[in-house]
Amino acid sequence: MSLSIVIVGGRGRMGQAIAAAAKEAGIAVAASLDVGDDIPAGLALGDVIIDFSSHAATRDVIARAVALRKPLVIGTTGHPAEEKAQLRQLAAGIPCVWSGNYSVGVNLLFALTQQAARVLDSGYDAEVVEMHHRFKKDAPSGTAARLLEIILEERKLNASALRHGREGITGERTAQEVGIHSLRGGDVVGDHTVMFAALGERLELTHKASDRGIFARGAIRAAAWLQGRPAGIYDMQDVLGLKA
Ligand code: NAD
Repeated sequence: MSLSIVIVGGRGRMGQAIAAAAKEAGIAVAASLDVGDDIPAGLALGDVIIDFSSHAATRDVIARAVALRKPLVIGTTGHPAEEKAQLRQLAAGIPCVWSGNYSVGVNLLFALTQQAARVLDSGYDAEVVEMHHRFKKDAPSGTAARLLEIILEERKLNASALRHGREGITGERTAQEVGIHSLRGGDVVGDHTVMFAALGERLELTHKASDRGIFARGAIRAAAWLQGRPAGIYDMQDVLGLKA
């Protein structure tokens, strides 16, 4: 495959995993950029830009990708909702895959969660639990945020239904709430469980990542898939053909 990529956040955990996955796939890394590097010059060097840096960098990366008309893969998470909506509008001017999680297994988890939320009514209490390594800077994870979005959409609820952890005299759980709990510790790459608990039965859908290579390989797959696509925002469901 004749493709070259530019990595933003190149010295980070994901940046290094992406460089390794590119090597595995025979894809050239035209530039690996991090804090202190000449980002504008570096971005111009490859066919597709892959950003796994910091949410604070995303606006600048998108604006430069749009000016250069380069396809962009965004893996960075932690954008406040309002800012994310604005950034997605900006990124729609180029071919852009934006996903909070590039693993194939997690993308199937998204599809299964949607199916479960559709079949199981509000008698099934929905709770999401995620765990990540002690170094992670944002919570809940981008993947948990997407799982919550799916549940809220299916149940026609808005973000005010979310309960970020519980403490004190909370009162009984209502059917109209969706719980989210973020655990942090050690070197956990990323665990997500979606729970639907009713009186008499409980369904749990769990995905556990043990190697960040799965995200890196997914991001490389997204970069290859983007070549020649029209401008617009895509996700991994598009890349994997999981959309009905
Ligand atoms: P990290 O802290 O190890 O690496 C981030 C790197 O980005 C660092 O080297 C940092 O110096 C660099 N950086 C920060 N600001 C920058 C800027 N303005 N310009 C250039 N480089 C900059 O973090 P990580 O574990 O590699 O994760 C990076 C991001 O990717 C996080 O937002 C994380 O949540 C996300 N992530 C997404 C997925 C996914 O599948 N979408 C998977 C894993 C991690």
